[in-house]
Amino acid sequence: MVRARPVTFHNYQRQRDVNPSMTTATSLLPALRSYFGYDSFLPLQEEIIANILDRQDTLALMPTGGGKSLCYQLPALALTGTTLVISPLIALMKDQVDGLEANGIAARYINSSLPASEIQQVQERVRQGQVKILYVAPERLAMPEFNRFLHSLDLDLIAIDEAHCISEWGHEFRPDYRNLRQLRQSFPSVPVVALTATATERVREDIVEQLDLGKGRVFLSSFNRSNLTYSIRPKRSPWNQLLSLLKDRQGQSAIIYCFSRQETEDLAGGLRSQGLDALPYHAGLDSTTRRRTQDDFIHDRAPIIVATIAFGMGIDKPDVRLVVHYSLPKSLEGYYQETGRAGRDGLPSDCVLFYSYSDKAKQEYFIRQIEDAQERRNAREKLAKMVDFAQSPVCRRRTILEYFGERWDADTCGACDVCLESRDLVDATEITQKILSAVIRTGQRFGAHHVIQVLTGSRDKRILELGHDQLSVYGIVKDRSRDELRELIGRLQAEGLLARSQGEYPTLAVTDSGMEFLRHRRSISLALPKPPARGKAGDAMEYDKGLFEELRSLRLRVAAEQGVPPYVVFSDVSLRDMATDLPLTMEQFSSIHGVGQAKLEQYGPPFLQAIKSYAESSGLPAATGAALMRQRSGQAAGQPGPPERRRGATEEATNELLSRGMSVSQVAKERGLAETTIINHMERLQLRGVELDVDHLLPDREALNEIGKAFEVCGSTQLKPVWEFLESRFTYDQLRLARMHFRRQGMVPD
Ligand code: ADP
Ligand code: ZN
Repeated sequence: MVRARPVTFHNYQRQRDVNPSMTTATSLLPALRSYFGYDSFLPLQEEIIANILDRQDTLALMPTGGGKSLCYQLPALALTGTTLVISPLIALMKDQVDGLEANGIAARYINSSLPASEIQQVQERVRQGQVKILYVAPERLAMPEFNRFLHSLDLDLIAIDEAHCISEWGHEFRPDYRNLRQLRQSFPSVPVVALTATATERVREDIVEQLDLGKGRVFLSSFNRSNLTYSIRPKRSPWNQLLSLLKDRQGQSAIIYCFSRQETEDLAGGLRSQGLDALPYHAGLDSTTRRRTQDDFIHDRAPIIVATIAFGMGIDKPDVRLVVHYSLPKSLEGYYQETGRAGRDGLPSDCVLFYSYSDKAKQEYFIRQIEDAQERRNAREKLAKMVDFAQSPVCRRRTILEYFGERWDADTCGACDVCLESRDLVDATEITQKILSAVIRTGQRFGAHHVIQVLTGSRDKRILELGHDQLSVYGIVKDRSRDELRELIGRLQAEGLLARSQGEYPTLAVTDSGMEFLRHRRSISLALPKPPARGKAGDAMEYDKGLFEELRSLRLRVAAEQGVPPYVVFSDVSLRDMATDLPLTMEQFSSIHGVGQAKLEQYGPPFLQAIKSYAESSGLPAATGAALMRQRSGQAAGQPGPPERRRGATEEATNELLSRGMSVSQVAKERGLAETTIINHMERLQLRGVELDVDHLLPDREALNEIGKAFEVCGSTQLKPVWEFLESRFTYDQLRLARMHFRRQGMVPD
């Protein structure tokens, strides 16, 4: 491994002409932790960031969820000037900016949704160098006045998000993106990073040409979405199948793509009548309704959207767990793109396509209406590929990746219906015992859905009302999904161990052979799907589902109070991590995935409180919570867990230097860390009860008095209100130092 020279990015002042590679991607790892709460880079992020820091042009091609935004957001922190981000999605800019601000990064946006007076204010702030990352819509670039503004800035980097919008070959061509050529020419020395998830060759080439990126480097990552499971089902009673898919995922986000506007209305209505919060979305709705629907989806008020393809771009929701194609898409590109909206956060998610011959015929009918012969031929070709994909018994993942020119060599992907169908005969004795017992314990009066809820430990109201959470079989199945259990129950019926009653609400009963199976401790082997290969962070571990739900509703409350989407507060990955590790101190909380310094301060206390009371009320031995959960999840048996974090030592080293009377910036320099990191250390030391002498680091008395007053007015758990109250005259770091001083004097709580 190449060791980078440690250089704090705060000290990286205008050195780029002297030594442009002083700041390296590796030296940004502390910032990655303290701002974003991540411990390492995702594939290619490090290389891309290194190239950017080298002031080279960059084209980054990564699939959705690959972590593109970080590729310019992290270097932006290291650069002295402003990073300009061009983004086509007005609706998304606010969320992006909220997300950055929640991580303690100064960001703003300028687009037509802002009144002129606010645009002026934002521009002023940017000019004063108080904004690290500025998002703008491409149409702004055509305004001479805005260009003058840009030229008055110290631009360090131009990031072009959704770069495929510049290409007419793409499916999302935006004429405004052509303004970028002009931008590029008027800032010839500012490096450009263009980012896209577009998988087609032609569009890639077009981007390079249009943006004149020929001299830059191209980074192409695999387009495999390893956390997605693809399956294609014959379109027989699709409504019932859909209902069961959604009921198994109550409260989770799902998108259902339909053929026509009418169909979206009908399906959404039908789902609502079943008590599911579904809304239709299509181009025929007026723009206010469309915006409201998107908003309801993003804020988790309406988790299910039934849409024509008009829905999608501009939706960056990271926790969509299911994408259903209720009818056949026109092309594999479209299918890949639409399914790609599932699982951006890297957690396992499902993509289900219902296929029928009549849907194919329907598409063909529309193709016949196309007048232009060439276009018609293209459409037909694309549809043929799509149909092939749906009909042939070849690994879905392989077909998709090969379509985009990527090789896929593995025998089985383990996460598509075809690969899962290649089954092994496995011993199913124990799981069969569990299922049969659950049917008996619940009195043979319930259907599969209820039995599965009991087995997986659902907190559903009905389960609790019936007291079924008290049964010995409650929550005893940890290693199988609800779909798998549903399938198993079907198999046990076929084997004659279970019987299902007729009627509207069928119930399950154990047959005589089932009883005999239990009584004589028989064994059974079934051909079962191989367990799918799982995605990144978090899922390998078993987490406490009850706590996860508690944290989810806390997140919803906090987000509603602050008027931001829940995922801006914490991602599902972070919540799962909390429900696995059960952190009980601020220090433990700080190592949760996605918890940087700003979120630690802002959200640590309420979330820790929730975890603590949950641990107490459910009788989990609090202090050993994490160890316990790890053990339960079999980590003791050698599964990889989160990396060890030896914070103690690094904090001691900081303390040692401070006690010699060094200033924060001296310590930072000495240790090759960011000043913020040094202050993080100090806060953790103080929370651990270490006496810290911070007096020589404080602002003068008058300032201190003023800050003290602000803490009295705004409280001290969240710094943002304090910072705003003081009209941003002090930095967050200064406020944190002052807070330590007041804590020491017992004037603000720990
Ligand atoms: P894209 O724009 O490529 O679709 P995002 O930038 O939205 O992807 O990132 C996808 C997810 O991965 C987000 O939830 C983001 O917070 C997370 N992420 C990004 N970089 C990292 C990292 N280095 N470690 C862990 N998670 C990351
Ligand atoms: Zn496969």
